[in-house]
Amino acid sequence: MITDGHGRTINYLRLAVTDRCNLRCTYCMPESGLDWTPRSELITTPEMLRICTLLIKMGIDKIRITGGEPFVRKDLLPFLHALSVISGLQELTITTNGLLTAPFIPELKKMGIRSVNLSLDSLDQDRFIAITRRDGLAQVLGTLDALLANGIAVKINAVVMEERNIEDIIPLAELTQSLPVSVRFIEEMPFNGTMQNVSLAWNSQRILSHLKERFPTLKKAVDESHATALNYDIPGHKGRVGLIPAYTRSFCGSCNRLRITPTGTLRTCLYEAGQLNLKDRIREGYTDEMLARLVRNAVMKKPLDGWAAERGLIANNLAHQSMATIGG
Ligand code: SAM
Ligand code: SF4
Repeated sequence: MITDGHGRTINYLRLAVTDRCNLRCTYCMPESGLDWTPRSELITTPEMLRICTLLIKMGIDKIRITGGEPFVRKDLLPFLHALSVISGLQELTITTNGLLTAPFIPELKKMGIRSVNLSLDSLDQDRFIAITRRDGLAQVLGTLDALLANGIAVKINAVVMEERNIEDIIPLAELTQSLPVSVRFIEEMPFNGTMQNVSLAWNSQRILSHLKERFPTLKKAVDESHATALNYDIPGHKGRVGLIPAYTRSFCGSCNRLRITPTGTLRTCLYEAGQLNLKDRIREGYTDEMLARLVRNAVMKKPLDGWAAERGLIANNLAHQSMATIGG
């Protein structure tokens, strides 16, 4: 069991397998000028498997694959196959933008992947293109259909942004009427790779008020422990809606997560920079015992919350990076 210095048990790893992406979402990265990590610096499949095997032995039982866009990584499927059979891993999930995902869904199902998070910020073609700076809404909707047809649970993630997709809040929530999906509205965080902060004109409370105007019968659901989403049921709907106060950071007290970036850096909090690079230590010849000790020491220093982590970042003159280099 891995425990942090605040007594929280850590059992969930978010692994970003690449920083590369086929979209350029405005809230995640600039249109240009963001250099991809050189291939030699990216964590390899054997390195990812070694780290995951070690962390699973230490107590991680849930892994989410993220990125960048995981499906642009050419060796993703062999990696997932190898990961899915590691004994002790209870839950393997993926977060994807859905552009390249559909053809792989039957294989994901065979591997035992039961749930996928799909990012979708707009149901309107023009707004989708304005947000992602690429065309691809039809492919994302195709992936949504295919996931549901294969019995894979879907959580739709929508980042809410003033002047970009406020008109989409209600149409996205209405998807839950006929589809058994969870639509989660995420507060925008300052991880756009441009050093610009965000204004957070739409925090969770404001999104909730907006939803309540359209769905007055909205009622709070019981959330799972460690959940970052505050979920709500709408009577008569097959799915549910949720709010993720990612900027407000009101869920840190029950945080159970670690992150590993595409270069192999362990981040104990989304809002910190990360000190320990596991890939570099592996390449220097560290044994599993040595790596385990480093991980335990790093986790002991996990910040109390995202605010404390951010203060540390600023004190060290560091800036928030693109979310594609962290994984969300
Ligand atoms: N490319 C995949 C995707 O978009 O689903 C996986 C990686 S993406 C970085 C993971 C999640 O982070 C997505 O749901 C995305 O919406 C969210 N995200 C990215 N930048 C964000 C930001 N600045 N604020 C809030 N959420 C963000
Ligand atoms: Fe790519 Fe996901 Fe970032 Fe959008 S949010 S640019 S899809 S990594």
